Amino acid sequence: MTDLHIHTSFSHDSEEDMEKYIERALALGKRAVGFSDHYDYLCIEDGRQIALPDLDEYTRTVVRLREKYKGRIEVLCGLEVGFLDEASEKYIEIARQYPFDYFINSVHMVAGKDCYHNEFGKNLTAKEAYRLYFAAVRKSIDASYPYEAVGHIGYASRYTTYEDKKIRYADFAGELDDILRAIIGRDVCLEINTSSAGAGSDFLPDRDIVRRYAELGGRKITFASDAHTVRRYAEKEEIVKNFLKELGIGETYYFRNRKPVAEKL
Ligand SMILES: [Zn+2]
Ligand SMILES: [Zn+2]
Repeated sequence: MTDLHIHTSFSHDSEEDMEKYIERALALGKRAVGFSDHYDYLCIEDGRQIALPDLDEYTRTVVRLREKYKGRIEVLCGLEVGFLDEASEKYIEIARQYPFDYFINSVHMVAGKDCYHNEFGKNLTAKEAYRLYFAAVRKSIDASYPYEAVGHIGYASRYTTYEDKKIRYADFAGELDDILRAIIGRDVCLEINTSSAGAGSDFLPDRDIVRRYAELGGRKITFASDAHTVRRYAEKEEIVKNFLKELGIGETYYFRNRKPVAEKL
C-alpha cells in the first residue's frame, strides 16, 4: 500500500527530510511515495496564521525528486488542506496554480479552535463535542475545491481528555451514516490513518466505522501513517491490510495528476 499521508520540514510541525522517506519507501519495495504537507489557510493560532509552506518551493522540490528517482519509485505531490469554508477560494486557486496529484481534506478546526489544543470541547460533554466535530466533517465533504481523500475521521478524539474518549459508530450512527454516504456519493476515498495514539484505537476511523462504510457500499480507501518523522512511515500497514482483507476490500488507491490508481493489497 502506498502511504499517502506524510509530513516533512515543509510542514510547521515536522523537521523530516523528504529524501529520507523516499529511501525508506524504496527499502520497503514501494511503488510510490506521496507527500502531503500541511496547508491550513486561515487557521489562526495565538492570533497568527499558522505557518504555511512556500508552495513554489514545495512543488518544485517534489518535482525535482520525482525526476531524480524516476524509474525507481513514483514521487507524488499531495497537500493536506485544513477545511474551513472561508479557505475554499484559496484552495481552488492553489489547485489551479500548482501541479498537485491530490489533496487530503482534513478537519483540524472546530468552532474556530484547533482540535490539537483541545479547546473547542472545553465546556462540552464528549457527545456534544464530537457532534460539533462531525458537523464540521460533514460540511467538509461538500467542499467546493477538489480533493481526493477525507483525512482522519475521528481526529478530535486524539486530543480530548474525556475518560472515555473513543468514538464508537453506535453512539453517532446518524451523523456517521450521513458522512459515509456523502463520501461515497462524492466518489472520494476514506482515509485510514494509523496515527491514533491518543484515540484509543489502532487507526482512525476505528474498525466499526470502516466496516459500516463497506456495508454502505464504500470501497475506496487510502492508507495514511500521518508520519511526521520517517521512523513512523507506513506504521501499522499490516494491521490495516489484514483488516481490509477481512472486509473483502482488495485494493487501496493513490493519485497521479488527480486520477485514482488502484493498487492491489
Ligand atoms: Zn491532519
Ligand atoms: Zn497530517
